[in-house]
Amino acid sequence: GGDFNQKIDYVFKVVLIGDSAVGKSQLLARFSRNQFSLDSKATIGVEFQTKTLVIDNKTVKAQIWDTAGQERYRAVTSAYYRGAVGAMLVYDMTKRQSFDNMARWLEELRGHADKNIVVMLIGNKCDLGSLRAVPTEDAQEFAQRENLFFMETSALESTNVETAFLTILTEIYRIIS
Ligand code: GDP
Ligand code: MG
Repeated sequence: GGDFNQKIDYVFKVVLIGDSAVGKSQLLARFSRNQFSLDSKATIGVEFQTKTLVIDNKTVKAQIWDTAGQERYRAVTSAYYRGAVGAMLVYDMTKRQSFDNMARWLEELRGHADKNIVVMLIGNKCDLGSLRAVPTEDAQEFAQRENLFFMETSALESTNVETAFLTILTEIYRIIS
């Protein structure tokens, strides 16, 4: 590979969860390759993507897992959650149902994952502001109640994508180091 024997200090596994079509695969494509596709089928079958970054002078390899089509409730296997130190709970801010389902996804996550896992709630597609179906305050309230980080993003316009991943990875680093 092109890693030139780069010394990796930490590998952090982060899982993406949430309903189908909320933009999980495109958030990952944007973060790992700075790509976006309106026709997302091309990314189906990809298990995870990695991106290496430096936090506090340490080399951190982020290994971000994508459900790639297992998004039905309870279809995500425990292997998917195993070893995860971070999770992004993604909803589509133009689809109320995808936000209402966050409680079930969180319950699934808490049932499978380590209790110290860092969780971030993500309201994606903020570029579609005129179609908004989830007020920011509703999501903030849920996040506060459940102790989650929260951010609104657009994979299409790149809004907050880097910031969201950096925030969760930095928080994981803070806990683990
Ligand atoms: P997944 O099923 O959660 O992985 O969702 P995808 O990443 O496949 O995205 C589903 C659809 O939403 C695709 O047509 C994407 O192009 C589109 N999409 C994803 N993110 C955004 C976004 O931030 N804004 C807009 N407008 N569309 C998006
Ligand atoms: Mg997908």
